[in-house]
Amino acid sequence: MDALVKKAVLPTEINTGCGPDIERPSEEEARAAVRTLLAWAGDDPDREGVRDTPQRVIKAYREFFSGYDDDPVEALSRTFEEVGGYDDVVMLRDIDFNSHCEHHMVPFIGRAHIAYLPTDKVVGISKLARVVEIFARRLQTQETMTSQIVQTIEKALEPRGAAVMLEAVHQCMSLRGVNKRNVATITTQFTGEFKTDPNLQARFMQLIRAPSGGL
Ligand SMILES: [Zn+2]
Repeated sequence: MDALVKKAVLPTEINTGCGPDIERPSEEEARAAVRTLLAWAGDDPDREGVRDTPQRVIKAYREFFSGYDDDPVEALSRTFEEVGGYDDVVMLRDIDFNSHCEHHMVPFIGRAHIAYLPTDKVVGISKLARVVEIFARRLQTQETMTSQIVQTIEKALEPRGAAVMLEAVHQCMSLRGVNKRNVATITTQFTGEFKTDPNLQARFMQLIRAPSGGL
């Protein structure tokens, strides 16, 4: 697999809350827009097979883009302080996600790996997967999504450091444009001790590739 390695740039301000406060068009307007796209593609929107497609598409869109309604920092708000002195890396790897690129509205599909070094509190591990899910269910670039996950962890957990790696295949690259299949785009972002300590970064990479022991 070819790999395209990118370092995510950390924008100065990033939205780690709910989606933007905009007025949404009505369902009827959204259905009409899909009907227009069907005709634009060259099909007959009144043909039996596609007659209900606008309704199906808007229902699917509600699901694909449900992340605008959720607050990722809120998802990490319940923390636990009783960890028996545990102060080493907490890591979740191979979190599958499906997202859509904001340039073509075409899926990009991949996996996220997340680690942090707790200070005095940890979070239920499934909640980190939830944060990935919330950001994936918005229109994204992979770089932005990487930053958003890191910044949410920073904001909610104030850890000694955090590390995020996303690897994904972008269908806007496989199905159109350069038409390259199976090119993995890899983005990484480190903060705190993960940023300053190359050994810690190396350990993070090692843990990602370590065999799971048949889990
Ligand atoms: Zn794209």
